[in-house]
Amino acid sequence: MLEAALALAGLAVLTFAPGFLVRAAGIARLRRSSRGVLVLTYDDGPNAPAPTPQILELLARRGARATFFLVGECADANRELCARMAREGHDLAAHGYRHRHGWLDPLRAIGDVGAGIRAIAPYRSGRPIYRQPYGKSTLWTLLAGVHAGAAPVWWTLDSCDSREELPGLESVVERVEQEQGGIILMHDYKREAGSPGARFTLELTGRLLDLAQRRGWRVCTVSELLAGSAAQPAAGSA
Ligand SMILES: [Zn+2]
Repeated sequence: MLEAALALAGLAVLTFAPGFLVRAAGIARLRRSSRGVLVLTYDDGPNAPAPTPQILELLARRGARATFFLVGECADANRELCARMAREGHDLAAHGYRHRHGWLDPLRAIGDVGAGIRAIAPYRSGRPIYRQPYGKSTLWTLLAGVHAGAAPVWWTLDSCDSREELPGLESVVERVEQEQGGIILMHDYKREAGSPGARFTLELTGRLLDLAQRRGWRVCTVSELLAGSAAQPAAGSA
């Protein structure tokens, strides 16, 4: 009985501890490399008619590119939109096929990582990157990423644009300014165009591009940041 309990406890530590440790080390590394750089990221899309197309139109007007962490089943349902995103120079990354939670649904989350990475393969070249849904990794989801040859990515600042009670826009812009840029987590899951959440994400995107321009930060994608080539000039003011 005691042996079984100890084995179970050991398995739990082995499963969950790497998720914490790899995440802490990964975020620290991303924080260092993204100082003076703005990396816009959007999770849970793509979704049409809103909000992904509106985000793409704003980015095109501003001459900026972003990283979209796509849910595989949304990507498969919106192939034309994915092709457009790739054509417009955005960085298409994986976010699970069915957005399985690594801790609450740990067994199904393992296969979900690989399926999500396979779903975005047609839209990118080079090493795939993925962000675990809810940021909740385990040893097994991390190994699934390694098996698929993909790099795990987190964020350095959560815009909280998915909260029911949205934060003040100014407070988010101030936090990004204090932290001198970073990898900003935003969302393009299905929302009505013009809904408070969709409007918040759009307005925040514009305000962050203004901030990057004012401060002379580079704007680049996650893949460019990881490759050490944050080469895109600060966003234009159009
Ligand atoms: Zn998500």
